[in-house]
Amino acid sequence: MRKNIVAGNWKMNKTLQEGTALAKELQAALTGKVINCDVIICSPFIHLASINEIVDGKSVKSGAQNCADKVSGAYTGEVSAAMVASTGAKYVILGHSERRAYYGETNAILKEKVKLALENNLTPIFCIGEVLAEREAGKQNEVVKKQITEGLFDLSAEDFGKIVLAYEPVWAIGTGKTATSAQAQEMHAFIRQTLVAKYGAAVANETSILYGGSCNKDNAKELFSNPDVDGGLIGGASLKVDAFLPIVEAF
Ligand code: PEP
Repeated sequence: MRKNIVAGNWKMNKTLQEGTALAKELQAALTGKVINCDVIICSPFIHLASINEIVDGKSVKSGAQNCADKVSGAYTGEVSAAMVASTGAKYVILGHSERRAYYGETNAILKEKVKLALENNLTPIFCIGEVLAEREAGKQNEVVKKQITEGLFDLSAEDFGKIVLAYEPVWAIGTGKTATSAQAQEMHAFIRQTLVAKYGAAVANETSILYGGSCNKDNAKELFSNPDVDGGLIGGASLKVDAFLPIVEAF
């Protein structure tokens, strides 16, 4: 059966000292605890090597929030998938709406990033989701299907089986406005059907589809109780253990 996952996206928050302190606190809180999901913290690049010394890779795993679309070379300021993997990180968020909106990441660029992440044994957490105007126009399914098709559907079934999806309606990210449980389930079921049509039921049923967008300790249980919601990608509420832990424990 597919995995339940709760992944924290720290975004551009926490100094190295603050980040390592948070990772230590979370690891201590989860050590020896029975938890029913994989827990991942996706930190800024500069934290990765230190965090991978702290987390045990079992109860807490680590990931990056991005990687380059190039292998190596004269790309000042970029960090490659191989570099991310060399820190011990196992995951990488790709296609977050903030990367798409502020840094011009297109589906074509993301396709390259996904390929390089997989070549370096990183699991992409591939983000998809519509903006408010698209939802208001009833175009959310069309938008999400295009993001998945153009970003991922060149992959073989075997490689697609290594992908985690995160549905994040952009209007819900950082706004305090969560999708209703019914809206989340409806979209997740649509995504899974889209995967069935492309890769068949076996692959689709093994793919974890996370919800992201103002998920917190008060709404996580209801969101995660939906049959097609396999966990969450958590922004703001991942920055403090007492906000994040109850979301992990919602499973
Ligand atoms: C995110 O950035 O992926 C996210 C879901 O943020 P927030 O939980 O703060 O809405």
